[in-house]
Amino acid sequence: MTTFSELNLAPKVLKAVEDAGYETPTPIQEGAIPPALEGRDVLGIAQTGTGKTASFTLPMITMLARGRARARMPRSLVLCPTRELAAQVAENFDTYAKYVKLTKALLIGGVSFGEQTKLIDRGVDVLIATPGRLLDHFERGKLLLTGVQIMVVDEADRMLDMGFIPDIERIFSFTPFTRQTLFFSATMAPEIERITNTFLSNPARIEVARQATAAENIAQEVVLFKPSRRDRAASEKRKLLRAIIDAEGEKLTNGIIFCNRKTDVDIVAKSLKKYGYDAAPIHGDLDQSQRTRTLDGFRNGELKLLIASDVAARGLDVPSVSHVINYDVPGHAEDYVHRIGRTGRAGRDGKAIMICEPRDEKNLAAVEALIKKDIPRAPNPLTGTVAPDAAPAAAGDDAGDRPRPAKSKSSRPARKKKAAPRPEQQPAPQGEAAASPAPSAEPSAQPAPEPSREPSPEPAREKRPAREAAKDSAKDKPKSQRGRGRRDDRKVVGMGDHMPSFIAKSFSDRSSG
Ligand code: AMP
Repeated sequence: MTTFSELNLAPKVLKAVEDAGYETPTPIQEGAIPPALEGRDVLGIAQTGTGKTASFTLPMITMLARGRARARMPRSLVLCPTRELAAQVAENFDTYAKYVKLTKALLIGGVSFGEQTKLIDRGVDVLIATPGRLLDHFERGKLLLTGVQIMVVDEADRMLDMGFIPDIERIFSFTPFTRQTLFFSATMAPEIERITNTFLSNPARIEVARQATAAENIAQEVVLFKPSRRDRAASEKRKLLRAIIDAEGEKLTNGIIFCNRKTDVDIVAKSLKKYGYDAAPIHGDLDQSQRTRTLDGFRNGELKLLIASDVAARGLDVPSVSHVINYDVPGHAEDYVHRIGRTGRAGRDGKAIMICEPRDEKNLAAVEALIKKDIPRAPNPLTGTVAPDAAPAAAGDDAGDRPRPAKSKSSRPARKKKAAPRPEQQPAPQGEAAASPAPSAEPSAQPAPEPSREPSPEPAREKRPAREAAKDSAKDKPKSQRGRGRRDDRKVVGMGDHMPSFIAKSFSDRSSG
């Protein structure tokens, strides 16, 4: 077995690694560190949780320990798809470079330009950035990339999903041809392959096993759910979610609940909070300080349930999560692997429960094809049956999602009750409507034919053409809300803005009845 001391890392780096308590290098570290230290390009095919961050930070610190930074000319550059991931990489540098004098700057959206510019002006050894913010600084003439000796692209496949590849190509073109490139991606989509063929030169290719497919310690389940009525789908689904959480009881010490849509992240988080659960959302539209606070709270155990979108949660290092709940079946099968990989880490047992509606069955089949196994169907905790069409709310019950009477938080932080109360025990309606930005009709939580994916957690860059920004904001909406402006804008005299939806319905549209 290889040890860290055999990897040719600087003694000061080794000491920091020892302080971190790592005993042996992970496979990606063992494979990537030696060629990186030789100055070779590296193509690492590895996902988060494999120790890939240290596989590039450790050799970088070793190499950068020699030499000094010049004003406005960073010596190395790490590009990350999200602010959180960039902040996490920065933390890694702090950990491993504690005995080495290195300067670094973190260029991410949501933080003032002034402070960032000051740091760059002084000269930095390591610049860690999201592509949009980096280009903003570059275009303002505040930054030169001609001194970059080492460039890292982290989570390239997520960059691709978020539309950052053109930005990455531009950034590559501003750096010297002689730079060393360390490139990491969990998967090798054709577009990623093209970029690596263009910008990497004879890279050492290190591929580590996909962690989640091999993780036998994650118990997976799917709960089939069919709403009793289409207009109740959203509230019944949230009720099912609460029942799932309750049924797990104390086994659920902390969990991440993934939604496909940003709007659902907010709605689900608000709804859970309303019902007394300890929950908070994280997605790209929240301001940076709130995202940081939420994540810190989740990491240190103060927050129990993190409601997240794929992009926001991507790459986040949260050491032990007992449960992952997929509120939706992800539209991209490999996201399932990423999502459930947040539990069952470091050999601990984990549980992944997914809700599947009839419209998600195709996506479920794609997930099962990818992981090459059938996910066991678990009974719906509300009905006790596996059959999807056992409606969770009895006919005539329109109180499927009403909150229970307010209890003090301390009396119910962990929600130990086994099952949700019966509807007739519940108070008059008010809660969910208030919890949700879109009241009873809940347009944002309406089923969409396909999940629309969160485009980018970075705010739109100032210089982007308005047309593009408009396109993005359209993408933010569920497909069910796109391109329906005319229909939604219709008004009936006397109804104000609150026209009941049945009035807008076409008589010829039988299928939607
Ligand atoms: P990453 O894949 O970079 O997100 O790393 C996942 C987690 O593994 C982080 O919490 C690291 O601190 C931890 N880690 C990285 N390298 C090692 C190692 N050699 N031994 C044990 N833990 C490690």
